[in-house]
Amino acid sequence: MKVEEIDSFPLSNVLGYYDCAACRIVDRDIDRGFVGHPCGRCGAPSTGGHDYFPFSVPVLLDLIQHHYHLPEHQQTGSVLVTPDAHRLTIVVFFSSLVEVLLQHFLVAGQLAKGLSIDAIHEKLRETQYVALRLKELFPKVAGEDWKHALKAFPKVGGTSATEVAVFCRRAAVARNRFLHDGNKWAIPAAMPLECVQHLPPLLALFAALHNRYVAKKV
Ligand SMILES: [Zn+2]
Repeated sequence: MKVEEIDSFPLSNVLGYYDCAACRIVDRDIDRGFVGHPCGRCGAPSTGGHDYFPFSVPVLLDLIQHHYHLPEHQQTGSVLVTPDAHRLTIVVFFSSLVEVLLQHFLVAGQLAKGLSIDAIHEKLRETQYVALRLKELFPKVAGEDWKHALKAFPKVGGTSATEVAVFCRRAAVARNRFLHDGNKWAIPAAMPLECVQHLPPLLALFAALHNRYVAKKV
């Protein structure tokens, strides 16, 4: 079933990722939630409850899903005008999701490097925007720049990491023009659907980044 066709059960369940508290590997093994379940990589028994992503991620996933499947907009006289205009919010949620995923990766990566949480928060305050965080903070975690790192993932969730990154940038530009300029035509008609379709590769990319740069070597 295509991700955009799923509306009878929550996307947050369908797209869950789980980690091992011992070796820090992230994968789709939902049984990591059961106490005693052995890690498929290092063999350590699970202590239970290991959702990898912070709680704002499943919230945003289910909000995106909900808004995508809402009935068409029909209020007479609304500035929304077009019947599917409610889906514009999906681009806003999607761009927020990208920001959450990046910050979560950068925090985990810097913690693994031994930085204190106060020092990490200070660095995040100094770099408020995605582009600046990718330029300043990502290389400190990965040891290589963002564009070079993406080339290590030619297949994530059915596409390439570079394609995912390019789409995220397109969505952010459209989101900014929509929110800051009030230009709802800045969001292409197909973009809300494209956001939904990019959810699996986006999550797969950040899991892959974690496994390459943050998980312990075993
Ligand atoms: Zn493990």
